[in-house]
Amino acid sequence: MKIDIVEMTPTKAQLIISDTNPTFVNALRRTIIADVPKMAIDDVEFHLGPIMDESNQTYESMSPLFDEIVTHRLSQVPIPTDLEQYNYRAKCTCGGEGCPSCTIMYSMNKKGPCTVYSGDLEPIGTDKLRVKDDLIPIVKLAEDQALLV
Ligand SMILES: [Zn+2]
Repeated sequence: MKIDIVEMTPTKAQLIISDTNPTFVNALRRTIIADVPKMAIDDVEFHLGPIMDESNQTYESMSPLFDEIVTHRLSQVPIPTDLEQYNYRAKCTCGGEGCPSCTIMYSMNKKGPCTVYSGDLEPIGTDKLRVKDDLIPIVKLAEDQALLV
């Protein structure tokens, strides 16, 4: 097997792998996905009920998708992972309950009509944790719809 590195950045690697077969390369891909530690959104709390903005316009707290689908899409968003700053949740002193040493919190407040993107996730605390891939579409909101998480 021969690997040529075409591009290597902190967020992207482009490789040319030759003298092998697709099965082995797929096994390599799956190993990288499984073994590279990364943080992910695994708990989303949706605001229930009407949402009122500064001009007293009322929005329904809903989207065209079920909350579970929106949650699944948010869970796929790559979250900046700094292993120097955060503990593994299972090994944290909080016992896995979730604390600032093992958990990042984001909020999102969007009102339709618009498309909600991953970049609309606002990190609570430092802006350093802002999502790098900010154009991943999550859901399209219609008139009078809002998403507050
Ligand atoms: Zn913790």
